[in-house]
Amino acid sequence: MEQTRRFFIATTAAAGGITLLPYSTRAASHSSDVFATSGGDITVHPVNHASFVMETPVGTIYADPVGDASAYAGFPTPDLILVTHEHGDHYNAETLAVIVGPDTQIIANPAVFAMLPAPLKDKTSQLANGDFSTFGALNINAIPAYNITDDRKKFHPQGRDNGYILGFDGFRVYISGDTEDIPEMRALKNIDLTFLCMNLPFTMDVKAAASAIADFQPRFVYPYHYRGRAGGTQDPAEFASLVDSAIEVKMGGWYS
Ligand code: ZN
Ligand code: ZN
Repeated sequence: MEQTRRFFIATTAAAGGITLLPYSTRAASHSSDVFATSGGDITVHPVNHASFVMETPVGTIYADPVGDASAYAGFPTPDLILVTHEHGDHYNAETLAVIVGPDTQIIANPAVFAMLPAPLKDKTSQLANGDFSTFGALNINAIPAYNITDDRKKFHPQGRDNGYILGFDGFRVYISGDTEDIPEMRALKNIDLTFLCMNLPFTMDVKAAASAIADFQPRFVYPYHYRGRAGGTQDPAEFASLVDSAIEVKMGGWYS
C-alpha cells in the first residue's frame, strides 16, 4: 500500500500536475524551460544531444529529431521539423517517417532533401545557406554551418549544412547545427536564445564556443551537442564558466 501511494505521489510530481497527464512519463521526466515572448510562451524540451522539441505560438517544432521514435511519443505531433544536415545524430529518415503527422512540414538543407525518401520529400522544403522562408508567422533563415579548422573540414564542408534562425514575434532563436565559430555566427545580432554545439573533433571546443558567443551576445544559451567520440566530450560547466555573466547559460538534460 505504502509502495503504491509513494509511486502515485512520485508520478504526479514528475508530471507536474494533472494538466500534463496526456504527456508520457518519458516526456515529463525531461527537463524543460519556458521563455516568455511577446507572442506567447516558448517551451523548450531537450531530448538528446542535438535533438529537441519546442512548443511555440506558431506550433510544435522539432529540431534534428533522431533516435527511437518513442523518445517523442509524449510530445505533440510536429507542425514543423528542421533538419540541419545529414549526419546520423541530426538526420534519420526512419525516425522522421514515424514521427511526422499528415500536416507536418519539414525544412532541410539541399543535401538532406536529395536523400529523403519520396513520402518525406513531399513534405519538405529545401533551404540552402542564406535562404529565407516562413512558417505561418515564423521567419526562418538558413545560415551557414561549417568547419574552419583544416583537419575538420571533411566533417562539415562550407556550403552544405545549415544552422537556422527562427524569428518569432519579439524573440529570435539561433540553432547552430554543427559548426565552428565561423564569422557568420560571430556577426549575428539580436539573438535571444541560442543552441550552441561543442565537441571535438566534429565541431569546436568550449573556448571557441565561448569566444564566439561573446561576439553575438544572446540572452540565453544552451550548450548542446557536447559529447562525441571517446575524448570528444566538452564540459558544459567549463563553457558556462567562460561565458559573460550577462548571458544566461541553460543546462538541458541532453544526456540524462
Ligand atoms: Zn555533423
Ligand atoms: Zn553532430
